[in-house]
Amino acid sequence: MTKTKKLINNPDDIIFEMIEGFLGAHPHLVARKGESGRALVAVDGPREGKVGIVIGGGSGHEPAFLGYVGRGLADAAAVGNVFASPSPEPILEAARAVNGGTGVVFLYGNYSGDVMNFDMAADEAAGEGIEVRSVVVTDDVASAPAERAHERRGIAGDFFVFKIAGAAADRMASLEEVVAVAEKANRSTFTMGVALGPCSLPQTLKPNFSIGENAMEIGMGIHGEPGIGQGPLESADSVTDKLLDRIFAELSLSPGEEVAVLVNGLGSTSQMELYVLHRRVKQRLDEKRVLIHRSFVGEYVTSLEMAGASISLIKLDEELKALLDHPCQTAALQVGSVVPESGASRSAGMEHRKSSHPAAARSGSAPGSARSQAERPGGEVTPQIVAAMFRNVAAAIDARKDWLSELDGVIGDGDHGITMALGWTAIGRALDQVNSDDDIEAICKRMAKAFLDSVGASSGPLYATALLRAGESARGRAGLDAAALVAFIEAAAAGIRERGKAEPGDKTMVDAWVPAAEAAARALREGGSVVACLKAAARGAEEGMNGTAKIAARKGRSSKLGERSLGHMDPGAASTFVMLSAMAKALERELSETADG
Ligand code: ADP
Ligand code: MG
Repeated sequence: MTKTKKLINNPDDIIFEMIEGFLGAHPHLVARKGESGRALVAVDGPREGKVGIVIGGGSGHEPAFLGYVGRGLADAAAVGNVFASPSPEPILEAARAVNGGTGVVFLYGNYSGDVMNFDMAADEAAGEGIEVRSVVVTDDVASAPAERAHERRGIAGDFFVFKIAGAAADRMASLEEVVAVAEKANRSTFTMGVALGPCSLPQTLKPNFSIGENAMEIGMGIHGEPGIGQGPLESADSVTDKLLDRIFAELSLSPGEEVAVLVNGLGSTSQMELYVLHRRVKQRLDEKRVLIHRSFVGEYVTSLEMAGASISLIKLDEELKALLDHPCQTAALQVGSVVPESGASRSAGMEHRKSSHPAAARSGSAPGSARSQAERPGGEVTPQIVAAMFRNVAAAIDARKDWLSELDGVIGDGDHGITMALGWTAIGRALDQVNSDDDIEAICKRMAKAFLDSVGASSGPLYATALLRAGESARGRAGLDAAALVAFIEAAAAGIRERGKAEPGDKTMVDAWVPAAEAAARALREGGSVVACLKAAARGAEEGMNGTAKIAARKGRSSKLGERSLGHMDPGAASTFVMLSAMAKALERELSETADG
């Protein structure tokens, strides 16, 4: 296959080079905050008393998301890698930077990786005393039927939701009001897209899907997710009619009602074509005697160089109209004219509040840590042994990475082994930094952070939450006895369920974690030792993993395959088994060494 051509330097540097380029071009609008280098904050956005707006998502959708940062729209954007959610770190940095004391709203498109990473950041922000609410955009009509509209993906309709919520916040609406109006905007926005050609990732330079020479795909997602079917390419008018008919089926519009229109290019479709599409949109709306309050034609949410376009309609009432018309000043959108705030109450003045909230001191120093070592509940599994167990996981994951990627190649995107190996290499490095006075909770925290910072895939927030919750279960303890070890496994399992919202039977890692925790609890009731309990957990995970071959996927990336995933094991369930069995082996070895020595 021939490679695509791109104007890039080292593909690994592309995100930071893009950010550097953006900041150099728009220094009067946006500045970088925090240590990740991926939190971009409006120079003239956040203000004391104003609800902060944080948007974000993967890169490759420019001008989304960083182009919508500025006065009157978003206060900050968190920037992920190409088509991958940002990790919680930049999201949290953005939330801190824009918190004006009245709360922060996260706005982003509905993708499980984004949901999990933004939720983790929201949890951490709450721990620092920042109140966060999230509104997830679900405008892509093609991605789920109307009864399951909440499962829909977010695409170009992000633009309307961000604009309206940003305006409400700029007018000093309360947190509740901003959330309510963002939800209303989302409910009122419907998008349908069409793809004519693929895009390629800078890392691979290979087209990410194939589309016949004279074909189009209606409803394809902005990362190349399958649409509702390929068909022969048709004229602009008949494609527009196809897209609009799907939208009109759900958005009832009566004569005299008003909408805003967004005709969005996906990356390599000409403005000329986009205006031809808009021409037909207006004809159809005129026929219905529906009025266009405002139109936007151009590139608003792209998909690298994908060919094609989407049409979004938002039904407007007086409130939404006023917010859409409210002035804003961003790189990608200017409406009206914005009078800059004068002096002290601006973002610069907000720095001091960063982590002055009493709750900020909460993390890390557990309530029990002041107690002397002797008073703390203990057990034979010391922090050193916990570290040794996880070091062995890192080795086992590295040894099995090709197998994990192969499994993921069959029912997912083939990255699970690479991703896990990256994450566990980072954990290995973090374990080398462990201090002798780090307790189990502190060790788990270090591991979770290392994992999150290096893993963009859904397994990042899932395993990181498992590690954090497991660590919390050991808070204040000097070591784990059998009961505490079982609680540790149970907390990890519960953390994964909480973060991913998958149920047993959905064909995910939950199907290995739940039987693992149950088997461990059973072994404990039977009076098992720490080793017996952990071995039981590993066996439970193994059975669960094998069982995933017999069920169809309902969560995560493979859920798109549904029945076609039958007969194949879930890669996340497999990595869970690898982890738990490596932990059990290391524990047995460590304890027998202790006994021998
Ligand atoms: P991605 O799907 O982002 O490429 P990985 O390939 O690293 O991420 O991990 C895929 C695994 O993640 C799946 O095999 C499944 O076990 C797990 N997974 C995905 N979504 C969920 C979820 N919502 N809850 C629990 N596990 C999930
Ligand atoms: Mg994958």
